[in-house]
Amino acid sequence: MIRNLLLPLVALALLPLAALAQPKGWNDPFPPHKIMDNLYYVGTSQLSSFLIVTPQGNILISSDYETSVPVIQAAVKQQGFNFSDIKILISGHGHPDHVEGDGLVKELTGAQVVVGRLDAPYNKAFKTPSGRPLPIDRMVDDGDTVSLGGTTLTAHLLPGHTKGCLAWSLPLKENGRSYYGFLECSLNIQGMQFVGNQDYPNIVEDFRATHKKARTFPVEVWASSHGVFYGLDEKYAKLKARKDGEPNPFIDPQGYQAHVSEYEKKFDDVLAKQLADAKAKQ
Ligand SMILES: [Zn+2]
Repeated sequence: MIRNLLLPLVALALLPLAALAQPKGWNDPFPPHKIMDNLYYVGTSQLSSFLIVTPQGNILISSDYETSVPVIQAAVKQQGFNFSDIKILISGHGHPDHVEGDGLVKELTGAQVVVGRLDAPYNKAFKTPSGRPLPIDRMVDDGDTVSLGGTTLTAHLLPGHTKGCLAWSLPLKENGRSYYGFLECSLNIQGMQFVGNQDYPNIVEDFRATHKKARTFPVEVWASSHGVFYGLDEKYAKLKARKDGEPNPFIDPQGYQAHVSEYEKKFDDVLAKQLADAKAKQ
């Protein structure tokens, strides 16, 4: 399953501007579910989308592909919410599988579209299959906040996977306890060029700083842009089987730190290999 996922990720990284057909099965529905408090998973089997429900309307994070939008709509409805109550769309990082549906979501909801400033050039240049442009209503930087109906999300710039990759933190409550919620961007390096990258000359420095910074957040409940990064299948199975008094499987501070270490190691290994290959060619 991991291998099936990684191949399309390579293709996406190599052709970031092309309006690619989505990899097979990525838009299959996944059971929507409450992660904790007012945070819900409404994405597809492989592409994360999150809904944050407030008394003044809802926030959607990531539209995914244009063809993912009906799957997200159905998931929102299945959880008992109206898609038209989405007031803010927080765009995903600048890759087609996270932002392609932004124009369609805007058309269906009238939501304000929030985009990370450093990924905005990608959205502006993007060509969607339908010809819809990707809207940008507000640009945000590291530390900026998005607030609606008493919930505030804070943006954290963690560049490398894209120049403007943003994670979002938000406070969550369950059984009288507060938790630090964290929606990771991506640390994935599949298909990336670290040596002589003309489009992103400081990619190595950015990744190194991002690995360091990623460890500093007091993450307790976390998720990421692809379910496979945070063990969605396993955690959802545990959530379904959860009995009263058992811990919420999405509370996983050690898993988050281990995930950062795992992806830092992958980065170090691939970088070393690319440096050795470049040296051998000299
Ligand atoms: Zn990506």
